[in-house]
Amino acid sequence: MNTPETEYGKLLIIGAGPGGYETALLAARKGIEVTLIEKGPVGGTCLNEGCIPTKAFCRHAQMLDELEEAETLGIKNLNYTFDFQTAVDRKEQIVGQLRQGVEGLLRHKLIHCIEGTARFVDAHTVQVNEQTYAADHIIIATGSVPQILPIPGNNLPGVITSREILNLKQIPKRLCVIGAGVIGLEFASIFNSFGSQVTVLEYCKEILPRFDTDLAKRLKQSLGKRGIEIQTQAQVQKIEKAEDGSLKVSFMKKEKEEQTEANYVLMAVGRRANTESLNLDDIGIAYNKRGIEVDENMQTSLPHIYAIGDINGRQMLAHAATFQGVRALNHILGENDSLDLNIIPAAVFTQPEAATVGLTEEDCKAQNIPYRCHKSFFRANGKAVCLNETDGFCKLLSHKENGKILGGHLFGPHAADLIQEITVLIQRQATIGELSNIVHAHPTLGEVILEASKD
Ligand code: NAD
Repeated sequence: MNTPETEYGKLLIIGAGPGGYETALLAARKGIEVTLIEKGPVGGTCLNEGCIPTKAFCRHAQMLDELEEAETLGIKNLNYTFDFQTAVDRKEQIVGQLRQGVEGLLRHKLIHCIEGTARFVDAHTVQVNEQTYAADHIIIATGSVPQILPIPGNNLPGVITSREILNLKQIPKRLCVIGAGVIGLEFASIFNSFGSQVTVLEYCKEILPRFDTDLAKRLKQSLGKRGIEIQTQAQVQKIEKAEDGSLKVSFMKKEKEEQTEANYVLMAVGRRANTESLNLDDIGIAYNKRGIEVDENMQTSLPHIYAIGDINGRQMLAHAATFQGVRALNHILGENDSLDLNIIPAAVFTQPEAATVGLTEEDCKAQNIPYRCHKSFFRANGKAVCLNETDGFCKLLSHKENGKILGGHLFGPHAADLIQEITVLIQRQATIGELSNIVHAHPTLGEVILEASKD
């Protein structure tokens, strides 16, 4: 196997996103020799064009929203303008700073980093540029790319994805978002706060189809109140250039054709596993439209190859990728772990935020699990009232017979941070009764979770 131009290592990881680089660091900490291959900047989608840059924009959006309500809090005669370029520059600076941090960690752990696109030449060897690399174990962590609707006009100038929208030169006057999933709603919320007139077109009956329906309904209402137009059951047909240069989006709703116009159209209709360029067909690894097939250890049909993160199409979330990497590495080392990869919290960074973990009511019904629903509202939470952020609720689901907490759904201020508590409770198999006996500091937003346990 060791040809003169082939380097041989213990573990080869393809892709340096939060799946790949975190696994590389963990492997190095465990004393494993690691080679990490990445064609772009380290950090992957999350750091370079996903979670982090959007959260930088969210901060600007939140501040603008606060300035809007300042008068109601007695702060008057404010005179301000928003320099969008500063937001773009600040986002770049944040991404650069965090990327340098990751690069430093990789250097510090002496991880062999290779720049270039990896392509399998056989099941144990990949080629990058002119060099080949072989290893005992390979972890594929190449992520996903935005999906583009196969409709006429999808390649017109101004039809963009979550990648390009981060680098616009100016705030669009009118923005049409296709897809009311996580990406679509986050950008709809951000650009609404930036002053764009936003229309969201969603194919399904409700926004956020994979979230709790109650939560999705409340979020839709709240975004609607903020002036975002959301059209559900809207099947987009085509995009055309209008006479005034803007984009005309045609969609079918209740068998009638309707239209909306915008300066930019954001395609946010999902992401697909980035299997291209790996030359998977030649090594006979099993994969389908969703991505590379894996078992609960992230092991593929070729036992020495693992696939973690978006590439396996399981849960397209940065933290899911990281923890799937932990599982894969433990499996390679023959070590057991107590990770439960079914308990993965997820958050939507709209204003207000939404977050979820565990089962939804729909899941309980589908799985015939007897459940009880417990609810509390931010309007009765002292801290939320003081913050003037009373929109939202906490909904917990517990098993009707043994009281174990099965799921938690939060909509309201700092929901993304608050969801961690419910994640811990579910992971530790706590009951609703046990939650009601945990002292929570007062006055805090977290008390909304305690209050739900009393319902
Ligand atoms: P998604 O699957 O969450 O949502 C896509 C939406 O587009 C769905 O609501 C779907 O019904 C709709 N859609 C599909 N075809 C359509 C059509 N023809 N017309 C109108 N609507 C249509 O996908 P996404 O929002 O693109 O996000 C991709 C992945 O990235 C998701 O798995 C998401 O969880 C992940 N992500 C997570 C975060 C986060 O955790 N905060 C942020 C960004 C992305």
